Amino acid sequence: MNGIKYDDILARIEKEKGISKEEVEGKIKDKLKQLSDLISKEGAAHIIANELGVKLYDVGVKKAKVNQLNTMLKSVELLGKVVQIYEIREFKVASREGRVVNMLIGDETGSCRLVLWDEKQIKEVEEGKVKQGDVVRVSGCYVKQNNMNYMELHMGNKGDWVINPEGESVEVKSFTETERKDIKDLKENDNATIVGTLVQVFEPRFYDSCPECSKKVEYRDDGFYCAQHGKVESKAQGVLNIVFDDGTENIRVVCFRDNVNKVLDVENVVDLKENTEKFTEVQRKIAGKQLEISGRVKKNDFFNRLEMTANDVKDANPKDLAGEIKES
Ligand SMILES: [Zn+2]
Repeated sequence: MNGIKYDDILARIEKEKGISKEEVEGKIKDKLKQLSDLISKEGAAHIIANELGVKLYDVGVKKAKVNQLNTMLKSVELLGKVVQIYEIREFKVASREGRVVNMLIGDETGSCRLVLWDEKQIKEVEEGKVKQGDVVRVSGCYVKQNNMNYMELHMGNKGDWVINPEGESVEVKSFTETERKDIKDLKENDNATIVGTLVQVFEPRFYDSCPECSKKVEYRDDGFYCAQHGKVESKAQGVLNIVFDDGTENIRVVCFRDNVNKVLDVENVVDLKENTEKFTEVQRKIAGKQLEISGRVKKNDFFNRLEMTANDVKDANPKDLAGEIKES
């Protein structure tokens, strides 16, 4: 994967060749058939772009937004706001030693890591010339994909930056940065990502919610009421408790809304309401499933244990799991 999304390739071909989306997709389908589905949809789209002479990568200087970063870009220019600056670290490899600084920068499309390798910028960080909240225009950077599949911007001796360029401001897309952690190392109030195996699934519980904001509604004489949206039609929402294990320990995870469907691999958990038989079937199907869960760690005072409330659930990247096994 090099970071160009299928839809972006499609849009690029459409725009440059002036042909309809349906036509482009038809060509991609034919290509897939021709290659007996040996390649991905994205792969087929790349081939079609090549055949039609549509350049997907700009060589040379490229102004980019965070969500456009991909490893084929050379000499990237990007305007971003400094979200976080991490400690200066020293490194030593066979060929050289030196210092490196990781920062997190963002724009209205997302955030990414900026890795500084050159002493000029590292000194500026050290001297406090660049701070959290400053705007930086970086140039001459290259892009690398890290082992969590995120794109990183790297600035070496060909790169440079302008700190707080005049007349520029940047709005950063809000997000919570989560750190990948072992379950045994989780602490109360952590925002963390854990990767492991689903070891137990409890029968989902349901509550009446507001269709606008998904919050719990209260039943009064003539119907359901949301504290914020007044009288509403109630909508059933599922809550799912699971036990999740990553080999270092296990933790109970609570999932709401879409995350319930993602864990259970079902269209709508409400179909399982008062249907123990169907739930048992689902339970059997998903036992041992491997997931990547991001969420917030809370203390359950009643049981005196830590639990996680899931913000996001994804199928685990097989590469990540393989890495885990090798390391341990
Ligand atoms: Zn509401």
